[in-house]
Amino acid sequence: MKYSFLLFLAFSINSFAQSSYLLTADKVFDGVEMHTSWGVLVEGSKITAVGPIADLNIPAGVTKINYPNSTIAPGFIEGHSHMFLYPYNITDWDTQVLKESDSYRTIRATVHAKNTLLAGFTTARDLGTEGAGYSDVALKKAINENIIIGPRLLVAGRAIVATGSYGPKGYDDDQKIMLGAESADGNDLIRVVRDQIGKGADLIKIYADYRWGLKGDDQPSFTLEELKMINEVARSSGRGFVVHSKSKEGMRRAILAGTETIEHGDYLDKEIADLMKSHGVTFIPTLAAVEKITEYRGWKKGTVAAPLNITNKHNSFKIAMDAGVTIGMGGDVGVFTHGQNALEMELMVEYGMKPLDVLRAATSVNAKAFHMDNELGYLKPGYLGDIIIMNGDPLKDIKVTSDILFVMKGGMVYRQEKF
Ligand SMILES: [Zn+2]
Repeated sequence: MKYSFLLFLAFSINSFAQSSYLLTADKVFDGVEMHTSWGVLVEGSKITAVGPIADLNIPAGVTKINYPNSTIAPGFIEGHSHMFLYPYNITDWDTQVLKESDSYRTIRATVHAKNTLLAGFTTARDLGTEGAGYSDVALKKAINENIIIGPRLLVAGRAIVATGSYGPKGYDDDQKIMLGAESADGNDLIRVVRDQIGKGADLIKIYADYRWGLKGDDQPSFTLEELKMINEVARSSGRGFVVHSKSKEGMRRAILAGTETIEHGDYLDKEIADLMKSHGVTFIPTLAAVEKITEYRGWKKGTVAAPLNITNKHNSFKIAMDAGVTIGMGGDVGVFTHGQNALEMELMVEYGMKPLDVLRAATSVNAKAFHMDNELGYLKPGYLGDIIIMNGDPLKDIKVTSDILFVMKGGMVYRQEKF
């Protein structure tokens, strides 16, 4: 099993971190291109030099770390995680949301955060706690204060849904059932967006549609005017809004209203792809979540034909790619196991993307989409020392993105495997 490394992981938090490192491996992916015979110098929390080893001015006393047959890269950026969820084949979503306390879910989230970082994801955008309030704000604070280890987090807090659209659903109406996100409509959206910002949301996550159509199909929830209002209020605070959307009309409204990213995009077509491109919207496809949920329902990949929801994902991904839409990397991890984030990258290759573009998606493309490209997502002088080393060449086999030998975040070493 590819992911069993977590069981025998030998890592240490080097709290007395050396002040400088020289990292070398066969290959160096700098966030854009692959190079050979390069090295990376890190001093304190930042990268000070990157380039051909022969050209580097190597200070005395630097700690030299060399991995043969390996690839150095910027720390991966997970574009769509839920640290407060875990696989639905272990515990279904309703039970996690309704029966598990925020405390219990937060304890689990600390482990999820650790496993994410050790899998080479030094940054993650977490898109809603699904009923665990603002526990993500606390999780982020604990990581930033080095109380626990985890990726740099961008958090959405509770996320926002239109009244009546979201779950858990199907309970007696006499019962007061808590929801997986916060309901708001019309002018009240102004107050709720501001309240979420005040409580620590780094971005506003909106469900622009949901499966509340007459036949359980995905139909828009918010009106265009409501989405525009959300955008205006969020942008006034220097934040963007991002949307869960699968339906064509949900995506169309969100793009016109100013969304920064579209999550899922299952029914994306050429018209929507062109609209995304012209508005500079980044598409986060979440292939892994859809494949995993379909497997939980009994689909045996490779032995039976892919059902419609899988072929839809193939179609939308290809249409977006062919139209030149900016595609980021985000798997909706939490639906599947935290620490197996790289599964999304494997699937992106399987669905037709070049491995080099997949590496870009998980580093520089996501960094730009999340407004972090002036400090991470690249190996460049002055950038944060968020660096990983993979066991092999991901351009030859994308699976090595899940075989991580070394993880550094902010110049601190969190994982260093023997070889
Ligand atoms: Zn999600």
